[in-house]
Amino acid sequence: MGVLAFLKGKFQKKQPDQYDRGLSKSRASFGDKLAELAKRYKTVNSDYFEELEQILVEADVGVALSLRLIEKLLDKSKKEKINDPSAINEELIDMMFVDYVSKGEDIENEIRFAKGGPTVLLVVGVNGVGKTTTIAKLAYRYGKRGKKCMFVAADTFRAGAVEQLKVWASRLEVPIVCGKAAADPASVAYDGALYAKEHGIDLCIVDTAGRLQNKSALMDELVKTKRVLSRAIPGAPHETFLVVDATTGQNGVEQASAFKDCTDLSGVVITKMDGTSKGGIILSIRDEIGVPVRFIGLGEKMDDLEEFDLDKYLHGLLLGGSK
Ligand code: GDP
Repeated sequence: MGVLAFLKGKFQKKQPDQYDRGLSKSRASFGDKLAELAKRYKTVNSDYFEELEQILVEADVGVALSLRLIEKLLDKSKKEKINDPSAINEELIDMMFVDYVSKGEDIENEIRFAKGGPTVLLVVGVNGVGKTTTIAKLAYRYGKRGKKCMFVAADTFRAGAVEQLKVWASRLEVPIVCGKAAADPASVAYDGALYAKEHGIDLCIVDTAGRLQNKSALMDELVKTKRVLSRAIPGAPHETFLVVDATTGQNGVEQASAFKDCTDLSGVVITKMDGTSKGGIILSIRDEIGVPVRFIGLGEKMDDLEEFDLDKYLHGLLLGGSK
């Protein structure tokens, strides 16, 4: 059974959920266009494949991955004499699925908690991508599950960032450790980790500055922050998440690859999926930097953060609005 048939069966009776709603713009520019294309052609030809490639690139699947998929499709179509446009589209979905899974889909997307002590999550990303909101959403998510969360405002460069995090800390009633303005971010991170240890915190979320303009300074800062964290709590940081704004398209992919050069990432959080028609960015990031997407932001509310689920994502991208 192909992936499309599998998804139809799996989500047969379900009402549209957050994925389906949040991906409606992407579905209009990807799933709906694929279906429309298949209706317009009786059999596939070079024009068909050209249009298909265009749809993939416009959905931000990324040029490299789009070309690879089209080449494989052409090959399969020739070898197995598949000429029916709908069958080709189904092959495409299978290939997108297999391509993602082959990079290790067995990964647990929820935060992996350390045993016997605080779990430290370092969050990186440039300003405006939704980093603070994502930090708040994560604390809300795990707070609801009974985990004691806290924030560390180690983005000491921007006074606004510290203030914003303080507002979230008070709304969510979680403790926050801040340094003085322009304090060494690593020293604030260290104080935060000690606080977490002394107060029985389960999840200590450290906000960092994301100034990509100066890559070597950023790298030095992250190396130092990680070193002091591990001195305070062995094994810390247990997770390092990069936050990427889906609406920035290929720019976001470039940011991801620049951060990957600066530090080891254990996951990516893609925000503002609800505001973009370019939902293919998830496949593109995974393809180009090899780091799994762990969560996606599908709105501005606290519970608009979902664990990334490939089946739900593909369903939302292709079928979510249809019955
Ligand atoms: P930061 O500068 O990276 O910390 O960004 P903020 O957390 O302040 O977010 C910037 C804006 O993006 C705010 O208006 C957020 O409400 C909005 N935002 C964050 N995540 C999402 C999301 O998943 N969907 C939508 N629609 N907006 C989001």
